[in-house]
Amino acid sequence: MSREMRDLQPVDGKCFRFYCCGPTVYGPAHIGNFRTFVLQDILRRTLEVGGLKTKHVRNITDVDDKTIRDSQAAGEGLREFTARWVKRFHEDCEKLNCLPPHVEPSAVEHIPQQIAMIETLIAKGNAYASGDGSVYFRISSFPEYGRLARLDRQDLDLGKTQDQRADADEYEKDSICDFVLWKGRRPEDGENHWSSPWGEGRPGWHLECSAMTQQYLGDTFDLHSGGVDLVFPHHENEIAQSRCACGGEFARHWFHGTHLLVDGGKMSKSLGNLYTVSDLEERGFTPMEIRYVLIGGHYRKPVNFTFDSLHAAREALAKLARGERDLARAAGEDAPPAYREVAGLDDLGVFAPALAALQDDLNTAEALGRLFTGLRTAADDHAATNWRGFHAVLAALGLRLPSLEVDVPDEIRALAEKRGEARADKDWAASDALRDELLEKGWLVKDSRDGYELEKA
Ligand code: AMP
Ligand code: ZN
Repeated sequence: MSREMRDLQPVDGKCFRFYCCGPTVYGPAHIGNFRTFVLQDILRRTLEVGGLKTKHVRNITDVDDKTIRDSQAAGEGLREFTARWVKRFHEDCEKLNCLPPHVEPSAVEHIPQQIAMIETLIAKGNAYASGDGSVYFRISSFPEYGRLARLDRQDLDLGKTQDQRADADEYEKDSICDFVLWKGRRPEDGENHWSSPWGEGRPGWHLECSAMTQQYLGDTFDLHSGGVDLVFPHHENEIAQSRCACGGEFARHWFHGTHLLVDGGKMSKSLGNLYTVSDLEERGFTPMEIRYVLIGGHYRKPVNFTFDSLHAAREALAKLARGERDLARAAGEDAPPAYREVAGLDDLGVFAPALAALQDDLNTAEALGRLFTGLRTAADDHAATNWRGFHAVLAALGLRLPSLEVDVPDEIRALAEKRGEARADKDWAASDALRDELLEKGWLVKDSRDGYELEKA
């Protein structure tokens, strides 16, 4: 709201309570959507790893223009249709290692709460019913309207907007007007209507988040988040509804992630560059490689997704995995610590700057860089502290490292065994020749405590 950096402190002094606008469940979420959901996940993890308790609420938009349109086109009931996409969304979240929110309310399950909020808004003079059974929010009744999106007050002749009304859920800044809270029943909505004091109909999209934040987080909570496209009109409208109906401060902080670009441009179905997690898995990439790309840039800047960036992510994750293996050996540890064991650590050793980068405006790119820097010296001294610190930062970033075990062809295994025997016989010339032969075939042999290890060169 202020475009300034502010300290995040829970308003109740105990638990950081935040809300994220969730997916519209009319198809699979794409990797752009997941940039936003992964960033929100990292915000939560960073707070928790820093020792704070959180309450994370993220809704499911399952009744709006798009879900109704596409469920009708599919010839399915709305709930049946959206349930399929909710399931798919959860599967993708799990693959990407996003923690499930503490509460995940769905719009269709909260119709009475939305109706009650409209009644309050009408009673307070902030909303009015029109002749066709719809209800609109009167933006001229809320002088703060436009503050978040920084709409130009001069151009915003609020008094004139009453005759201009938006019925669609989404619209542009230049068509600013009274927006719909309740949509009177229309033939194209099919069976999707509920009874209300204004006749049968359904809620407008913006209302669900105001009803759900009030129910699960109260009139004032710590932070609200979404992708940058939600600033206007969605969040502007949420503020108007909630501030007028509930009277609290609403969200004390706003966190918007910049969009993911693909090959330098917008993702779209028509350009054939709209990817889902499954699309990329089918091409042989792992969800962790996708997550790594999504967090490769600061959230205030666009991240450009390319296949080269996925390949680079693969290399980077393998390098982190090798670093972890060496560090774990130095620390005498063989299994990574659980998430709760790395929350609230006092000493992260050489990885303290990496967590500090996340705690400073969620700088994921810098945190990744500092992980690699830390690994250069982590095994030298205080390895056990550094090992725990490393895992604390990995937990904050939500990264799982790939296994270093590889399928070694029999021929390569046999050469490595022969080299092991030559070494045991102290036949250094033969052992070196076999090492060179392995390298020519693309394998690196490394001597270790228990014998040797093979890595792809
Ligand atoms: P939706 O399912 O359309 O309601 O969007 C879910 C979330 O994804 C919202 O927070 C959007 O702002 C966000 N989003 C949509 N497109 C992108 C994109 N290309 N990059 C990042 N976030 C996006
Ligand atoms: Zn919302």
